[in-house]
Amino acid sequence: MGRAASGAVPQSLCQADLTDTDVLIVGGGPVGLFLGCCLAQHGIRFQLVERQPLPSTHTKSIGIHPPALARLAHVGVAERLIEAGVCVSCGIAFAGPAEIGRLSFTMGPGPYRFIVAIPQHRTEALLRQRLDELAPRSFTPAAAVVAVHEDPDAVCTTLHDGQVLRSRLVVGCDGMGSQVRKSAGFHYLGAEYPDRYVMGDFDDTSGLGTAACVFLGRQGLVESFPLPGMIRRWVARDATGNQMRDVAQLAEIIRRRTGHVVAASTASMFSPFRTFAFVAHPFARGRVLLAGDAGHVVSPIGGQGMNLGWMDVWDLVPELVALLAGQASIEAVARRYADRRSRAYRIVRRRAEFNMWMGREGRSSVVKQSMARLLLGTPLAAYFAARFSMRGLPDAP
Ligand SMILES: Cc1cc2nc3c(=O)[nH]c(=O)nc-3n(C[C@H](O)[C@H](O)[C@H](O)COP(=O)(O)OP(=O)(O)OC[C@H]3O[C@@H](n4cnc5c(N)ncnc54)[C@H](O)[C@@H]3O)c2cc1C
Repeated sequence: MGRAASGAVPQSLCQADLTDTDVLIVGGGPVGLFLGCCLAQHGIRFQLVERQPLPSTHTKSIGIHPPALARLAHVGVAERLIEAGVCVSCGIAFAGPAEIGRLSFTMGPGPYRFIVAIPQHRTEALLRQRLDELAPRSFTPAAAVVAVHEDPDAVCTTLHDGQVLRSRLVVGCDGMGSQVRKSAGFHYLGAEYPDRYVMGDFDDTSGLGTAACVFLGRQGLVESFPLPGMIRRWVARDATGNQMRDVAQLAEIIRRRTGHVVAASTASMFSPFRTFAFVAHPFARGRVLLAGDAGHVVSPIGGQGMNLGWMDVWDLVPELVALLAGQASIEAVARRYADRRSRAYRIVRRRAEFNMWMGREGRSSVVKQSMARLLLGTPLAAYFAARFSMRGLPDAP
């Protein structure tokens, strides 16, 4: 029985067999690109379609954690990211301008004992370069998916120009607004948090070196991270609820909450952002599977959403290999994958919620500062360092 999704294509079109591949990846963001690299290495036939005609220039995600680096190393991208980014091996917590404690990311298993800070568009460019080396002509830009329709033997995916692609499986890596998810009829359960933030990238004159910094205080959180080219990302909690609309205001807030002066005239990026927690239900069904933001979104405070998406891929690839080799059933793969990914999502979501709670303004911030001072002075600091660098997830090495 074919499962009709919204905008389903007629059976006759589906049988037209315009393109025939094993896996169709929808979305060429960081998660879809990594999946393409992994499938290429396993010799699996795939195609990737991306809605945008040109590469993204968004710098939104900047932190790549040790477990993700270990996975990216398998496709030959970790070293390129390390070379192009800044290695952050220490986190410093401040109460206003005064240091209250440090976290070291140098402990823990594996060769990567730091977090790499690099703008998302650079990460995507390096993944894309690697995909082109491993599987030339697998990436099709300016190809937007409008509908998926599942048959017993294949999935038919319709593009904006009416072309129908036929594949044994479809993996939706098409972000939070995923058309694959909507078209397959999966729900997206969750809500928006009241927490709003503003971020900006400025020339770095802070003297904070390569440390990642968190400033806790009565007026709300400020985070600060180094970026390549002597740039620093500053993120401030917007206690007014998304009314901070210009870069001079952000610079003033940074000065008041941290004592650091950033020159508004050097801002290369300024953007307010909202926070969400959503998870798809189901996460996978039949021949349609999700990965990355298409399947779950967590708050960026803590910077783990993209990394979680890469872990989805790492989890999914051996399952796809077994499935395509006839060694596993579609139902069993979908069930196992969905169970593991939902569990990992819940852990990462809780961590992000803790980070947001720590950064909320108000009188309790004095208690939170004392708590942070206390925790960072004990062996528990290693536990928090592991949480911030995404170690200790069920499937992390
Ligand atoms: C301010 C901010 C800071 C962040 N910082 C971090 C961080 O430091 N670390 C971290 O791990 N995460 C961070 N994140 C989260 C991270 O940006 C996302 O989790 C990540 O982009 C998800 O990648 P993705 O490939 O799943 O989806 P996306 O990046 O959304 O990519 C989806 C791709 O699919 C394409 N697409 C969409 N619809 C279609 C369609 N119908 N047909 C074909 N193609 C389609 C899109 O054009 C896009 O290229 C941050 C997020 C924000 C907002």
